Amino acid sequence: NDLASLMDVSVNDVISTCMSLGMFVSINQRLDAESITVIADEFGYNVEFTSTDDEIEVEVEEDAEEDLKPRAPIVTIMGHVDHGKTSLLDYIRSSKVTAGEAGGITQHIGAYDVTTESGQKIAFLDTPGHEAFTAMRARGAKVTDIVIIVVAADDDVMPQTKEAINHAQVAGVPIVIAINKVDKPNANPDKIKEALSNINILVEDWGGKYQSQEISAKTGQGVEELLEKVLLEAELLELKANPVKNATGTVIEASLDKGRGYVATLLVQNGTMKVGDVILAGAYYGRVKAMFDHIGSKMDKAGPSTPVLMLGLDGAPQAGDKFNVMESDREAREIATKREQILREQSIRTKKHITLDEIGRRLAIGSFKELNVIVKGDVDGSVEALSDSLLKLSTEEIQVNIIHKGVGQISESDVLLASASDAVIVGFQVRPSGSARKIADNEEIEIRLYSVIYDAINDVRDAMEGMLDPEV
Ligand code: GDP
Repeated sequence: NDLASLMDVSVNDVISTCMSLGMFVSINQRLDAESITVIADEFGYNVEFTSTDDEIEVEVEEDAEEDLKPRAPIVTIMGHVDHGKTSLLDYIRSSKVTAGEAGGITQHIGAYDVTTESGQKIAFLDTPGHEAFTAMRARGAKVTDIVIIVVAADDDVMPQTKEAINHAQVAGVPIVIAINKVDKPNANPDKIKEALSNINILVEDWGGKYQSQEISAKTGQGVEELLEKVLLEAELLELKANPVKNATGTVIEASLDKGRGYVATLLVQNGTMKVGDVILAGAYYGRVKAMFDHIGSKMDKAGPSTPVLMLGLDGAPQAGDKFNVMESDREAREIATKREQILREQSIRTKKHITLDEIGRRLAIGSFKELNVIVKGDVDGSVEALSDSLLKLSTEEIQVNIIHKGVGQISESDVLLASASDAVIVGFQVRPSGSARKIADNEEIEIRLYSVIYDAINDVRDAMEGMLDPEV
């Protein structure tokens, strides 16, 4: 809104320009300096920044060419539900941890890195699916270098497969195809390759440019070859970083741990992070008290493309927040305080998460295209029936996605998923657990409870229709 009035153009023009640049923004959203520069440029303006944004941005000096060293690729695994994303991540993680290292106990910290048989490293983001990937991108974080698209050979190229491919392509991130479950008797990799060719993804052995590998996340067949193909793709990207400077990178996840205080998984993308460094991450800061890798081994320092679990922040920054190492506590505190103030203003002005009532406002400003829903119910039949009916409400303007469905009470993890992917939760004949309710209140996640399926369908339909912009 402010930017539009500075340039004397309509807010809608600014918002649609943002959308054409891949930024989905709301009318009151604060934009970072880089986005403002790009958007203003589209309208023929040059931007000169005075004070405010300098106060919350940390300047990072350019790297000299001779300081740049090759770095490991950072990989995200995406694909349709049940095609084996989690299994593949688990297989890679566990097969690369030798017994004896910290007892071989691995923990999910949101990311891990492995060394392949050829001795090269790869870092994996451990939250499969394009929701997390997209949530990160929505926050301006560029983390993933390469995407592995998993397709089950006993199934088909499914809607979420296409969506994942689409998300990767929009982000300009190269794709490697993993055709999974080839251990199954009814596996038919050729059928998958053909289906891929129908959506313009021509794999190498069909004369195309996309590398693909047949794998089994269950037996491990083909997984090492898949990793080598990822490395081949990485080579083309000539990924580089400067290990000899203060670290910068992205927050992968953060939480409050009863015994240890705030724990955050950070992915170092440039520089080297050390115990004792003062970290500014989003609106929080603190000195690195200790760092660990995903098997719980202590680390003193972490270079580019290394995920670390760190202790010492004074709060939990959001996934996708950038972090910087600062020269002093004072400097970090000053910026953190200003950022926190802005966050507070923002959360007052715009609702963080979608609700059925919020749909209308978002439609009006043209920033609403997808309604993500989580469906929980008391029996499988009603969950399926409700999910199917909600899916069928999709129109050309709004796609309804059932991002998760299941039988049972609404759990903490349902609410966290809703938070990460901006979804509403619809419960049929079930209720949230106490802790789920608490998080939902904090995160402002809408939980709608029904005992009649038609009521649920009608409410969602009304929300989608009542607000539909007649122009669209
Ligand atoms: P996700 O939803 O994509 O994360 O899929 P999961 O990793 O949870 O896998 C879904 C189901 O497929 C699970 O029951 C897995 O055990 C099974 N599965 C995954 N990969 C393989 C595989 O390579 N072979 C076989 N036979 N089953 C697999």
